[in-house]
Amino acid sequence: MSYKNSEKLYKKGQKHLVGAVNSPVRAFASVGGNPLFIESAKGTKITDVDGNKYIDLVLSYGPMILGHRNKKVEKAIKKALKNGYTFGASTKNEIKLAKIVCDAFPGMDKVRFVSSGTEAVLSALRLARAYTGKDKIIKFSGCYHGHSDALLVAAGSGLATLSIPGSKGVPKGAVKNTLIAEYNNLESVKKHIENHKDIAAIIIEPVGGNMGVVIPQDGFLNELKELAKANDILLIADEVMTGFRSKFGGAQELFNVEADITCLGKVIGGGFPVGAYGARNEIMEMVAPLGGMYQAGTLSGNPIAMASGIATLLELKEQNPYGKFNEIGEEIENYLLKSAKKYNVDLVVNRYGSMINPFFTSKKVTDFKSAQTSDTSKFGVFFWEMIRNGVFLPPSQFEAWFLSSELSDKDLEKIEKAIDKAMCSVS
Ligand code: PLP
Repeated sequence: MSYKNSEKLYKKGQKHLVGAVNSPVRAFASVGGNPLFIESAKGTKITDVDGNKYIDLVLSYGPMILGHRNKKVEKAIKKALKNGYTFGASTKNEIKLAKIVCDAFPGMDKVRFVSSGTEAVLSALRLARAYTGKDKIIKFSGCYHGHSDALLVAAGSGLATLSIPGSKGVPKGAVKNTLIAEYNNLESVKKHIENHKDIAAIIIEPVGGNMGVVIPQDGFLNELKELAKANDILLIADEVMTGFRSKFGGAQELFNVEADITCLGKVIGGGFPVGAYGARNEIMEMVAPLGGMYQAGTLSGNPIAMASGIATLLELKEQNPYGKFNEIGEEIENYLLKSAKKYNVDLVVNRYGSMINPFFTSKKVTDFKSAQTSDTSKFGVFFWEMIRNGVFLPPSQFEAWFLSSELSDKDLEKIEKAIDKAMCSVS
């Protein structure tokens, strides 16, 4: 396998792009070696600039749930392109996508579209503060909610990958209202509530996906909701990753919990930049132009992105791949555990439907601290052997692997073989 063209582009790209990338995790920093540059993708496969083909378990970090270039989605995009790209005024398709999204989440009467998950979350926090008149928020260690100042503390994803506890350049004042609790630990939340009277919101990834996959323990989300409600605190579910991924109604449907504000992104744009936040009428009516909480965006509700989002969600509804996701997720989990046993490798696998993650540890992974017991150097070796055997994984221990509805038995056979070889290489 040659990576010559990727290597050349990596060198060239560094002149005018920071680290030759536009998002840090793409630099492959924690797995060592040069990053791959991608030429194209179709279905379950992605092809790099050297012509190497991989089964894609990154899926652009989640959005490409139907696989790449789904026919119906592509047709909708092409149709939308003919009408123009952006108008700075409302379109019919924004109303259509809003209905599909609100119908999927019982706690959502109204939604506002933005252009990224980061924007969705920072707007949701502003909304919670506007609605409650309080300032503080609780976030969980290891959860990543985008790169807005207030949330760049104890965050997972790229920060965990690069071992950065918080970002330089964030003023102390911007994080002074951010309280950190531990995932799956209600007591750590209760302590903050006892000590602080002005908590507006608790924000959580209902399934952790940015410290590797971490599952909420039985009852955790429901108890969190009860605790929030009893203390006039809003619960914000950051479903940017989990929304429409393992159930149409996201983790909230799966765990039967209703958040006060829901944040979405990734899947709802079908590969185009869309984020969203939504809630009950009484909360959303705080948002301008109805209320005094200001939030806006030049490209919000972009027509091409709306067309892509509608086609993706309608196709997802029709395919209803959630049963299939569970089956193939379980198969991949079994391959991982079987090969770990065969080669005597300490391995824990966490899985939530179509999000899956192996940790090279013997400890149960229930929070950020336990996730960090994983031997990341082993992950690096495993990662490159998977690449050499034709499977594209996120280049970080702390990112979820994503499954698409297109994965075939043949793909699974290839994944199984690659896992066997990769596990052998770490043993
Ligand atoms: N929230 C969660 C749970 C995410 O996983 C991410 C991105 O990975 C974000 C928010 C930020 O979304 P974006 O990268 O679209 O700004």
